[in-house]
Amino acid sequence: MENEVKQIAREAGAALVGISSKERLLDGPPSANPEYLLPSTKSIISLAVALDKKIIRDFMSKKDWLSHCEERKQLAQQLYGIGDLLCTYLRNNGFDAMSVDVNNNYRPEPTAKDVTEMTEFLPEFAHRYGAVASGIGRLGWSGNILTLDYGALVELGTVLTSAKLPPDPVLEVNPCDRCKLCTAVCPVQMINNRKTIKVTVAGIEEEIAAKRPNTCCWIGCTGYQGLASNGKWSNWSPYRLSHPLPEDKGELDALNIRLQKADPQMHLESNSFTDYRAAMFDPDWFTNTVCGNCRLVCWQKRQDREHNKRLIINSGIVTLNPNGEHIVAREEILEIDTPYIVKVAMLREEYQRNLIEKKSVDKKFSLAPIDRAVLSHIFE
Ligand code: SF4
Ligand code: SF4
Repeated sequence: MENEVKQIAREAGAALVGISSKERLLDGPPSANPEYLLPSTKSIISLAVALDKKIIRDFMSKKDWLSHCEERKQLAQQLYGIGDLLCTYLRNNGFDAMSVDVNNNYRPEPTAKDVTEMTEFLPEFAHRYGAVASGIGRLGWSGNILTLDYGALVELGTVLTSAKLPPDPVLEVNPCDRCKLCTAVCPVQMINNRKTIKVTVAGIEEEIAAKRPNTCCWIGCTGYQGLASNGKWSNWSPYRLSHPLPEDKGELDALNIRLQKADPQMHLESNSFTDYRAAMFDPDWFTNTVCGNCRLVCWQKRQDREHNKRLIINSGIVTLNPNGEHIVAREEILEIDTPYIVKVAMLREEYQRNLIEKKSVDKKFSLAPIDRAVLSHIFE
């Protein structure tokens, strides 16, 4: 049966498939517990699909933003598709099976009414712990999964089942060589350069980087702060916070809650936080991806990683064009206040010209709800 499971997954596009027993995950952190979602779980099937290196290099060098956004949506659809095929196969053979949501599914937090008030973002089931236990990869310094064949350039999925399948061996060698380039390319200093924590999964004790609270990455990855602290490069976000991020966890969490509540995306009736799967299959949903640098930089060969770091930090600062496009600044930048706590970076010349011309937004560029809201606030 395990061979059929793997064949189905591979034929549907999985680059890597591995199987773990439930028992292997007993020593893991709370989000490694598969019984939270499926109490009858006996086996975990871990899946990885690979990102395209050309698309990633164009994203890192700020030549092409939208192709990677589109790629992430397409890969999520593929993972849901593989999960559905496996669930059908397992159920047809008399077993329970469930496909874990690809992203944005967190365990309820006692003090949070909804996702805007969340601060811990503990996944219902962490794909990466399943991937370690299934032999797909190991946790790198960044905490991301590193595989032998694709480095960290994978998106993960998981199917839980009551079928007892023979587990694959865990990966004996950790591909991470501690180059710490993941630390260097994070615009919000999420990943510590020296301090470590220990994480145990499947009998493997990993010593990985200590991180700032999860709300720090949330702020960087959602794009509320895109500019690096040296002011010389950014991720794909044109948004800025007025001050450095607070060091104190309580203050950082409170800031993230204020940002979330102000974000126009969070006021949509449905978005990728209310139903990730529906968003990924909605032809009108835009997968607004502005960061992920810590993962994207991490290819197998060190010289590639070093090149990737240079691409990220030497490709400038992203601004919002009045037509909705995200473009790299070649001239003087203005930082303009918005009603959404963040400032937005725009080219002075483009901003001033558009105050007179008031050109309308080009729908092919203005895709993120916050971009649309900010441009309409400034120019209408
Ligand atoms: S970038 Fe370097 S240190 Fe960071 S996870 Fe990858 S190999 Fe490890
Ligand atoms: S996704 Fe971006 S903001 Fe988040 S930890 Fe990685 S580099 Fe930092």
